[in-house]
Formats: sequence, structure tokens, C-alpha cells
Amino acid sequence: MKPRIWLDGAALRANVAAFAALGAPVAAVVKNDGYGWGALRLARELDGVVESYVVADEDELAALRPGTKRPVRLLADVPAARLRSVVDLGGIPNCSSRESVAAAAGEAARRGGLTVRVGILDAAGWSAIRAEEAAVFASTLAGTALAVELWTHVSSTARAGAILAGFSAARETFVRAGIPVVSTDVASTGSASVANAHDRLRIGIGLFGGRLGTPIATRCALRVEAPLVRLYVQGGIGFAGYGDRRIPDASEIAVLRCGYGDGYPKGMAGAADILSVGMQYTTRVRRAATDPCVLIGATDDLDQLAAEAGITPHELVVGLA
Ligand SMILES: *Cc1c(COP(=O)(O)O)cnc(C)c1O
Repeated sequence: MKPRIWLDGAALRANVAAFAALGAPVAAVVKNDGYGWGALRLARELDGVVESYVVADEDELAALRPGTKRPVRLLADVPAARLRSVVDLGGIPNCSSRESVAAAAGEAARRGGLTVRVGILDAAGWSAIRAEEAAVFASTLAGTALAVELWTHVSSTARAGAILAGFSAARETFVRAGIPVVSTDVASTGSASVANAHDRLRIGIGLFGGRLGTPIATRCALRVEAPLVRLYVQGGIGFAGYGDRRIPDASEIAVLRCGYGDGYPKGMAGAADILSVGMQYTTRVRRAATDPCVLIGATDDLDQLAAEAGITPHELVVGLA
């Protein structure tokens, strides 16, 4: 007796369409092996509807490549020794240091041109340049055969204005220095909007149905079905679990075979009708005596579920993976 936990491919594709409706194609972020669900598995579901993929590094590129012919963008700089194989594999590397620009420039000369990514803070702390460094950085690119995809990451709502202003200033600087800026991308799920659409949207948690507060009509692509182990009538005791949750007498309690050992968040205890979450079992006040019982499904809101559990939607998704 085990829970079944799976992904709804149609929901994944509908979520891509919901973001693309903002006016730019979706680059599916499948780092950490597709948020734990398997990058190849996600590519199998999504390859027909996404523009490209985003991975962390060259190892993830190599693992994903058998599953797609689309471009794969790397968040990190590539060690010089592996740059050629990354480009051969259709990876678009990031450059955030003189050394990585020098290696890419060499490769560009050999090939008659090459596109790299340059991230402006908050791109990713370990692979970005600061907006103030744009002029100096542009001078290292000048005279090479490199074209640039300029990007940033709006990682904080509070600093969104400053991040985007720094990004625009850096872009101006690059263009004035004569660097070919061939595309720009700035938004992930939480900052996705018409204004931030640019040339593509980098969507990770949004594929699964997360919105991070954005008003986008995603739907939950996760489904968790838990076998019903036992139904019993609560009589006289008046509490569930270990006595910290009072419930009305004569409530009917369902014991379900799915617990935090399966990735169902322990913090769900106390939310809605969930009484307790143990390693293997969850108890809830009976809603309907269905077996199996749907603990998470298409009608759930991933943002809200995660908030009830006191975690982020990212933690919920990788935990269930
Ligand atoms: C992880 C990541 C994303 C995707 O973020 P979500 O919130 O999951 O959509 C986008 N861009 C960068 C730079 C990232 O590191």
C-alpha cells in the first residue's frame, strides 16, 4: 500500500501556455534535474511547447541533451576546458569573468561567432556582474566575435525596481560600446508580467502550477493519491494526533497512507481538515470516503498549499519528487 504521486503533462503544457500568453516564449528552467522530477521527463512533456531550457551547469546540459534539440542556456560559467564540448552540445554558456570571456572569444574566433550570456546582478550571485561593471566588462567583449544575451533575475520584489534599472543601464552601456546584444530575459515565475516578458520568460516553479503571487492562471500539475487505510469515528477523546488538535466528537477520521516520508509536508498538519502528518500516515477529518483519497490535485492552488505548510512552492515540488 503506497501513495501515488505524479505529474500531469497536460497541466504542465497548459501552464507554459499561460505564461507564454504574456507575450514571450517560455524557457523551461529544469535545473536540479527538473526540480527533482527528471529533466528528461520534463523535456518529454514540454519539448513541443517551450523555446529552450535553462540548466545550472555543463553536467546538466549533457544529461538533458538526449531529450531535446532545443537551445539549452547555462546559468553558470563553464570551465575553459569544457567550453568546446558545451558549445558542441548546443549549450549557451554564461560569462561573468575576464577568463570566461577570453575562453569564449577564442572559441568564437574558431567558429566565426558565438553567443554567450551575461548576467547583471541579481542574475545569480556566482555568475553575474554588477551593473556598475558593465562598461569595463563591455570592453573585454569589444573586438571579439561574441554576441550577448543579456539577462538578470528579479529575485526580490522589494528590489525589483533597482534590479531592472541596473539592468537597463547595463544594456545601454553594452549597446553604446557596440556589443551585439541579441536578446534579453529578466523574469522568472514570480516576476513574470507583460512588461518583463522581453524575449523569453525563464519559468521553473510555474511549470508545476506555482505563481508566486503573480496573477497568472496556472493549474496544479502535481497529483497525490493516498490509499485509505482506516476510517474511524472519533468518540469521546476529542482530539487528534497527540492531543494538540481538538476536533468535534463523532467526527469521522480517515487515516491515509502518505506521510512526510513520501514528501507530503509535515507542516500541512493543522491546515484545512488535515489533523496530523506522520512519516507514513496522514489523518484528516473525513470529507468523502473515497479510496484512494486525493491529497493534492488539479483543483489545489500550489502557492496556497505551500503557504499552509509554511514552505515555498519550490520545497513542496522537490519534496514530492
Ligand atoms: C531557478 C531560476 C529560475 C526559475 O525560477 P522559478 O521561481 O522556479 O520560476 C529562473 N531564473 C534563474 C536565474 C534561476 O536560478
